Amino acid sequence: MIENQTPCRFIGFDCGFKALESDEIHMASLILLDMNMPSIDGVEMFRKLGELNITQPLALLSGENSLFLKNAASLAQMHGLTILDSIEKPLSANKLTSLYKSLCETSRAQKQDNQTNQYSNEEILNGLQNEEFTGHLQPKVCCKTEEILGVEVLARWIHPTDGIVSPFFFIELLENLGKTSLLSSQLLLQTVQFWSQNKKAVSRIQFSINISANELEDVNLPERFYTICSEYGMPTSSITLEVTESNVINDIKHSLDVLLRLKLKGFKLSIDDFGTGYSSMKQLNELPFDELKIDRCFVDGCSQDASKKIIVSSTCEMANKLGLEVVAEGVEELADLNVVRQLGVKSVQGFYYFKPCSQQDFLTVISKNTADINRKIIKSK
Ligand code: C2E
Ligand code: CA
Ligand code: CA
Repeated sequence: MIENQTPCRFIGFDCGFKALESDEIHMASLILLDMNMPSIDGVEMFRKLGELNITQPLALLSGENSLFLKNAASLAQMHGLTILDSIEKPLSANKLTSLYKSLCETSRAQKQDNQTNQYSNEEILNGLQNEEFTGHLQPKVCCKTEEILGVEVLARWIHPTDGIVSPFFFIELLENLGKTSLLSSQLLLQTVQFWSQNKKAVSRIQFSINISANELEDVNLPERFYTICSEYGMPTSSITLEVTESNVINDIKHSLDVLLRLKLKGFKLSIDDFGTGYSSMKQLNELPFDELKIDRCFVDGCSQDASKKIIVSSTCEMANKLGLEVVAEGVEELADLNVVRQLGVKSVQGFYYFKPCSQQDFLTVISKNTADINRKIIKSK
């Protein structure tokens, strides 16, 4: 029984080979895998479980340290396995309870996903044609003063019947169709119009727009973006274009042409999801970026996880050497905020401060933030 209410059935095997031969392995809700078994070790088990096309989630158990468990989890994923969690031995009732909770949460989330509509290419393209997409704004906050320095424009589809649809349901499809530039241009135009209508409130705000790698193959992109900005008199230096790390590095020659010309036109450039690709300091030095965004997977929980903290710290050090500003993404907890602050990160984005909101709500947020900052300045005088 877990938490005195849910009965669970545990079946144990003293040897991995017996487990592999058993039907139970195909029926279990969760497979607990001890990495250090004498007859067949956990790494060999990954291979065998992968060959059996096991789809149930696994929890890894080991006496080795957390870095080992993390590396093992990466290998398991390469074998197509799903890792729910990794646990250092000894196993305790508390650890089992939290494992059970995350298993319940994951299956609830999966059920929701399965219930959610999947949209066809045609529906998405029609939505774009009908200008049903809009940008929600997530503030970027200065670590020291808590002043809002900028916002990231995050695409949302305002679906006529389903309401607000997350990018999860359309970005990948649009990328496969090579049609993200339609979305970027619409979001840029909306952003520029918003700026032009609210110049007083947002004059100091830096607006960040996401662009996909395939857009960097379009040599006309710098001119097109420049024209949109100049039509409304918005300085291009108030726009930052975010591109994900792995995508730029994969095709440097094409990317560099367009990136350099965007820079010449005055746009700021940001390297997004940093740490998820494999770029080296040398490669980064060859690219004209102004800002580096450390991916959420390293920031979230960095106060509890020594290796995450090392990654954040060394990324900051490298970014400083290259003259790049650092943004930490996905800050949800005060403890993590304190760590990134102490490591010299200049600004953060995350649910700790703000979730993405509509343009209208952002105007309320920015006016409150401006008033708070002014009060702080008066107090300190
Ligand atoms: P991203 O560029 O890394 O954007 C940050 C994502 O993290 C956003 O998800 C944001 O809502 C979420 N986030 C921010 N802070 C937190 C936090 O503290 N906790 C958690 N759990 N999440 C946080 P969203 O809006 O769902 O966007 C997902 C991704 O879709 C974006 O990741 C970006 O890669 C892509 N995307 C969004 N809009 C566009 C767009 O206009 N064009 C392109 N090409 N991609 C876009
Ligand atoms: Ca981004
Ligand atoms: Ca990101």
